Amino acid sequence: MSSDLIANLNEQQKAAVTLPEVSSLILAGAGSGKTSVLISRIAFLLEHRLCTPAELFAVTFTNKAAREMMTRLQAKMPLNTRALWVGTFHGLCNRMLRLHHEAAGLPAAFAILDMSDQLGAIKRIMKANNINEEVLPARKIQNYINKQKEEGIRAKDIKPYGFGERDLLRVYEIYEKVINREGAVDFGELILRTYEMLLNNEPIRQHYQDRFKFILVDEFQDTNKLQYKFLKLLAGHGEEGRKPNAVFAVGDDDQSIYAFRGANVGNMKDFIRDFAIGEPIRLEQNYRSQGNILDAANYLISNNSDRLGKNLWTQSGKGDLIRVFKAGDEAEEAAFVVDNIKDFVRNGEDLREIAILYRSNAQSRALETELTRRGVKYTVYGGLRFFDRAEIKNALAYLRLAENTADDSAFMRVVNLPARGIGAKTVENLIDLARDNQISLFEATQLLSGAAANKVRVFTDIINDIRSKRFSLPLTALINYTVQRSGLKALYEADENGAERLENLEELTSSAAAFLSQEGFEEDSKENVDNLSPLTLFLSQATLEAGDNQAKAGEEAVQLMTIHASKGLEFNNVFITGLENGLFPHDKCLAEPKELQEERRLMYVAITRARKKLYLTYAAQRLLHGMPRYNVKSSFLDELPGDALKWLTPKEDSDSYSSFGSGRSGGGYYGSYNSKNSWSEDKRNSYSGYKKTYRNNENVPEWAKNIGITKEDKNKINSIRQS
Ligand code: ATP
Ligand code: MG
Repeated sequence: MSSDLIANLNEQQKAAVTLPEVSSLILAGAGSGKTSVLISRIAFLLEHRLCTPAELFAVTFTNKAAREMMTRLQAKMPLNTRALWVGTFHGLCNRMLRLHHEAAGLPAAFAILDMSDQLGAIKRIMKANNINEEVLPARKIQNYINKQKEEGIRAKDIKPYGFGERDLLRVYEIYEKVINREGAVDFGELILRTYEMLLNNEPIRQHYQDRFKFILVDEFQDTNKLQYKFLKLLAGHGEEGRKPNAVFAVGDDDQSIYAFRGANVGNMKDFIRDFAIGEPIRLEQNYRSQGNILDAANYLISNNSDRLGKNLWTQSGKGDLIRVFKAGDEAEEAAFVVDNIKDFVRNGEDLREIAILYRSNAQSRALETELTRRGVKYTVYGGLRFFDRAEIKNALAYLRLAENTADDSAFMRVVNLPARGIGAKTVENLIDLARDNQISLFEATQLLSGAAANKVRVFTDIINDIRSKRFSLPLTALINYTVQRSGLKALYEADENGAERLENLEELTSSAAAFLSQEGFEEDSKENVDNLSPLTLFLSQATLEAGDNQAKAGEEAVQLMTIHASKGLEFNNVFITGLENGLFPHDKCLAEPKELQEERRLMYVAITRARKKLYLTYAAQRLLHGMPRYNVKSSFLDELPGDALKWLTPKEDSDSYSSFGSGRSGGGYYGSYNSKNSWSEDKRNSYSGYKKTYRNNENVPEWAKNIGITKEDKNKINSIRQS
């Protein structure tokens, strides 16, 4: 294989793929083949027997990317993918913790708390300790805790700075104790716990340091401090008498967009120093985008300072001009996007090759409405998350409790769902009992007496019953049993809008079946990890995958996502919507100039997702979070080369109003909508009447706004959006 694999690579790519066993940094712009090179590198190492599959450790940014990598590798060579450690930091750390849970001080079936479980746990702790949420919002504490964990800092390591931090720290301390007692870990903890486990346990650490000869990391620019420390430890850096393992990192400083989550682009410089990298390898040929798109990206990003510096070129021609469209409002913007999608479809384009990108999730509503109304299939990444839906989380909570009765988050979720007359008073009682006796809520139920005790017993009986069937029923049957025994099935059957929820619960069984076959459960694998029950593994996957797109795999549909979620992906056709000052770049830049550079990198990521066609849209007026905003166009539009753009609405030159940071942006009223500002006549004709009324008349009555959207559409949208 590798002869043709190598033959297709350019010189720099070849050099990177065929490196000897040394650490290296591939520093290159978007679409230059970083991810492809990383995959080819793995194939090259395996093919030339420079290592076995078990000796590789490869980190991707999303679960989807990990799966894609597996598929691409399997296409290159026959491979037992179970033996490969390819996944996200969270996924790989989860795997390691499951294998060594005792060393990490965790039960085998430890639960993973997602962000909303975590927030719930924090609120519970605040209540039990009489900390007023109005004085100290739970979200603030959550951010604080997660920030500490991203840096690898425990509560005991912190010397509080002033009163404000003292209160935050107090909750952090209690939180650590409580979730530890529950046998649960949050996302940050997955990595921190694994790191500490390796740090404190020399035999295990050495085992992995000896084993993982090659460590590969994609999207290295977005690793946080703790992740980098973890990589260093795993590679055996700083270990006396040991040469660090070969770390192959690929990244692009211009695409660092997760600083708000603790990502530290400084890791690149540290890596060069720590692993004595010398010169990074640069890839400069872009294989993804046509000339105009690439020019726009290069032009834009040159406005940033402090870049590690690189330039991209392409062999392909200029291609189409980038289309710019100004809409009157978000509904018209959506109509424009969908009109063009319809054109693509008429020309035989695959819907999966069309992406609609936006800065913030709230923007998807108008787009979803229009797509639904016009019968275009779509999926939302990170918004519509299968495992995040209420009914799925409810069923999983029963299963989690059956696995691990100490899982208080799961307990709180379903103790009175379906309603069994267990009131807030009883739950408060349980919380107090659990706190005073340092036991789980489930155990605390034993201490209740009277009528409340009887009601709660109904619930604990259900859990114990499901628990007793854990090992006798196959996973899919266990899920069906749980849905029925918990009363969830009856609950949704009785609900006139429950049909879709029931369907989703059936889908949960299918997804468990798919999971089993994907994990090769009938095979006899030597990995210890297989000694764990399928349920344990399924539950952790369900939590870890919630952040990824859970649309039915392979379904032909337009892809909607935030720009953050689009990283690493590519599409023939891309719409970047909501290019308005205050929205993108985001308002937060006003307070913090450094943020503007991060926003610009985000725009760079967005532009470089497109292969052939790129559309940039904005709306003069937009209803967002229930508030109308009057907008001026994004200052980023002024940073693009004029000759790469084609304005479909009259060109708006930059002026003092549109330069971001002038203090007027975002809030600057742009003026009334000019009905001539529309795109071509034929498009206008295909345009339904209701929105014209709406966009030209702010005082439109409620009923008129809704013409064109049937009740069915609305129900569908509502249920899709419900989580
Ligand atoms: P990003 O920064 O967005 O993650 P990337 O640098 O990882 O981008 P890839 O996704 O690996 O880039 O590659 C971009 C596109 O270019 C892919 O479609 C890939 O198949 C193609 N490509 C990469 N290298 C070559 C090559 N040598 N010849 C032809 N096509 C290539
Ligand atoms: Mg990539």
